[in-house]
Parts: sequence; C-alpha cells; structure tokens
Amino acid sequence: MSGTRESTKSVTVIEGDGVGPEVVRATLRVLDATGVPLTWERVEAGAEVFRKGVASGVPRETVDSIARTRVALKGPLETPVGYGEKSANVTLRKLFETFGNLRPVREFPGVPTPYPGRGIDFVIVRENVEDLYAGVEHMQTPGVAQCLKLMSRKGCEKIVRLAFEVARAEGRKSVHCATKANIMKLTEGLLKRTFEDVSREYPDLQTRHIIVDNCAHQLVRAPEQFEVIVTSNMNGDILSDLGSGLIGGLGFAPGANLGVGIAIFEAVHGSAPKYAGKGVINPTALLLSGVMMLRYLGEFEAAEKVENALLVTLQDGTYTRDVRQQGSSSTHDFASRVIDNLGRAPDGIALRKYRPLTIPDIGPRTDFVVAGARRTVGADVFVESASDIGTLGRSIEELVVGTPFRLKMVSNRGTKVFPVDGTSPDVVDHWRCRFVARTEDALRDEDVLSLLARVGARHRWMHVERLQEFDGAPAFTKAQGED
Ligand code: NAP
Repeated sequence: MSGTRESTKSVTVIEGDGVGPEVVRATLRVLDATGVPLTWERVEAGAEVFRKGVASGVPRETVDSIARTRVALKGPLETPVGYGEKSANVTLRKLFETFGNLRPVREFPGVPTPYPGRGIDFVIVRENVEDLYAGVEHMQTPGVAQCLKLMSRKGCEKIVRLAFEVARAEGRKSVHCATKANIMKLTEGLLKRTFEDVSREYPDLQTRHIIVDNCAHQLVRAPEQFEVIVTSNMNGDILSDLGSGLIGGLGFAPGANLGVGIAIFEAVHGSAPKYAGKGVINPTALLLSGVMMLRYLGEFEAAEKVENALLVTLQDGTYTRDVRQQGSSSTHDFASRVIDNLGRAPDGIALRKYRPLTIPDIGPRTDFVVAGARRTVGADVFVESASDIGTLGRSIEELVVGTPFRLKMVSNRGTKVFPVDGTSPDVVDHWRCRFVARTEDALRDEDVLSLLARVGARHRWMHVERLQEFDGAPAFTKAQGED
C-alpha cells in the first residue's frame, strides 16, 4: 500500500478489447468526478497489438509505463486465434510478479441472486503466478500431454500472508484455505502446510483448511459462512467465477492483481465481444476495481464515496441490461447516475471499514527453503513404448541387472502396472519406470546418467526425475497401488 499522497498520481490505463473501452471510460469518468488527483497514462495491449505483430500482446511502452507508475487499471484483453501463444493478461501478471489476485464477492441491492438477503460478502485470494498456470507444458509422446503443477513454499507463503493481511485490513474474522491436499500431497499439501504454519502468527484470525471440492459445495450451499478464501491459481480461478455466479454475474465481479509495490486492477470478466460497442455492458465490476485501486492508493474517503454512490444508484433502481432487460440504463448513463449520487449514502447498508493493506514482502532469496541433508535414492525414467506391460517390464528389469538400481515398479498415468498383479488398468504409450538403489548407499550423478544411457539404448525416454530425500523424508509420492 503506497499510503503517500503525491500532488497527482499517474496511473497506467489500458482500455483493452471488446467492451473494455466502454467500461474503462465509464470508470474513469466516475474516478475523475471524485476529485482525487489522478493522471491517466494511456497505453495499449491485447488483440490489436497482437495483430500488429507484437507476439506477447504487450508492447514495450506498456511495460515501461507500468514499471514507472506501478499502478494500472485495465480492461479485458483478448488473445485472437492465430496470434500469440500466451495470454497478454497472464504476461502482465507474470512480468510484474503480481502474485496475489483479490476477487471480492458480495451481494448488491436489488440485483437478483439465488441467495437474496443472505449477506454474501467474501473475498477470494488467489495465487496468481504459479501452479498449472505457470504454463510449463510438453507433449511427452505424440498422444500424451503434460502440464507441470509448480508450487513453491515461497509462493505459498506470499499468498497465505497476503490473505491474512487482507483479512486484517478488511476487519474480517476468519480465513479458509481451500486445497486439494488430500490428493496432491506435495503441491497442494505445501499450501495447506504453509497456511497452518503461518496462521500461528495471526492468532486474531480463525483459520480453517477446507478441501476445495467441499469448498465449492459449501459456497453453493451456505456462501455466507465465508469471509476470506485463500487458494491456488486454478482453484481460485474456478471458485471466483462460481462466486460471481452467486451474486448476479460477471458484471459485479471486480479484481486486483497485487505484487510488492505494484498493482494491476481489472474486472474478472472478459471482453464480452457480442456486446462490444453497444453501450449496454455493466461497468460495475471495473468501477469496483477502481474503488479497490483508490484504497490501494490510500484514498479511503474517495473509495467509500464511490462505493456508496454505486449502492445508492442500484437502490434507486438504475440497472444495466444484465440485471433488467426492460428500462435498463446504458453503460454511459449508469456511470452518470453514479456521478450524480457521489456524496449520498445508501439506506441500511454500512460499508466495511478498511485499513491500509500490508503487502507481504518476504525478500528476494531464491533458495527459500534449504535442506540440511539430501540424498538421491533412485530415479523415475519416463519412456514411450507401444509394448505390452509384461514385455516392457521384463525388458527394463533386465537392463538394470548388475547396476546399483533395481526396478521397483512401472506406472502408467500414475497407477502401478508392473509387477503385473491381476488388475487391468487401461494404458497408453507413456510409462514411468521407478528405479531405486539396491543398497543404502546414496546414488551418484554418474549412476543416474549411466542408467539413462542403458534405458536409452533400448527404449525412447523423454523425461527423468531424480528421487530425493530431504532431511530423511522422501521428496516424491508413491504411485497408486505402489507399496
Ligand atoms: P466474458 O467476456 O467474460 O463474457 C461472458 C459473458 O459474461 C458475457 O457474454 C455476458 O453474459 C457476461 N458478462 C461479461 N462481462 C459482463 C459485464 N461487464 N456486464 C454484464 N455481463 C457481462 O467471457 P468470454 O466470452 O469467455 O471471453 C471473451 C474474451 O475475453 C476471450 O478472448 C477471453 O480470453 C477474454 N478474457 C479476458 C479476461 C481478462 O482480460 N482479464 C478475462 C476473461 C476472459 P451474457 O451473454 O449472459 O449476457
């Protein structure tokens, strides 16, 4: 949180694609009307930029502008089919290491929801740069794809601390951590363990772990029980869209991407191309993202003024067509009503009292966790083969006779298939051969390299994973069915 008030603060503005220009212009009109001294530095990103041949969709001027202003407000960006491999949105989030994505979800007056009057008001704190969205993917065989789910202790600690700080800044009492640690014990389990460790430093907050699928179920059954939910990147992406469905749709779902000393504010929704240029889209989501930006900039009074004016506008019965088909307001008129209502307070709704948010800065160390002792105890070698498992298993077993390794098992998509034990899982041409040391002696790199050469002489390998122990604990999981 900057907290310091300059005479005028520059903010990078990206109008974006589709309905982006409409919602961005509506939002800027309202923010300008608050009198907060903000200067808009307008730059481009998205579809047109891809079409001009910039492969990332984000031109240098845009990167330079955000690097300078450290605060951006953006409309949605499209990655047009046939241009660019990566989303310009993800590029921006990653380039500036905005590791935390805040997505508040709450009920608004008069907006139909399946849960009227239940007081839904929670925020999803989504990890924003790691997990499956790190985008490290390979076709390992012509028919088998892999996406690496990368989660670090450092990344988990940053997002967990951010969630606790958000809870404190927003006067919340409880934080849930939603993971799939019961299945992915090392990746999702790291988030769970980090949450449990760090929660000891926040005794003022009630903390609870919840399995993410149960969290989805509970969100639909009794959403009012949640205040803050911290979760990994993909789970957060899914849960937050579920959240917007609870409160009247994407037109009401704001978002903030936060890093250390940097923030990019954007609505959760995309470019909604079928509404582009029609002037009918709901600007509330981006306007509320603008309110989050005002708070980030320390402009608490102005933030409260805009939020109150928005609530009054809705209470007065002004709605865009996503809420009401007949007699709906245009995007422009909706923003005008909000401007007219600046200074008014809604009936019967008290706004939450916000305090400055502390963004956790846990330093630049790359080796965030250092093991006291480590040992190589084996290797998983992944091979492509169209053989049946009996033939393949015996061939691989033969290969390691007289070496420091023995073949412990072969698995196919995570399930043990060799030694053959009477079960009959379906298989594909992608096998993980698990070799372990025959003795208690630690294995050397040369052992692993000569193993690879032996396997490679007879089979096509495409991936190898060292099996390690850190401080005496295995740093790998077992296959389904492995003893
Ligand atoms: P979308 O643009 O979010 O639109 C899906 C639907 O949500 C719309 O058709 C509309 O529903 C409703 N909606 C979205 N924004 C609304 C608003 N402000 N007010 C009222 N209703 C709203 O999702 P999409 O069609 O899947 O994606 C379109 C493009 O946007 C894609 O290229 C995608 O990659 C991109 N995208 C960008 C971002 C980003 O920049 N952060 C995020 C998501 C998607 P109805 O049809 O029911 O009226």
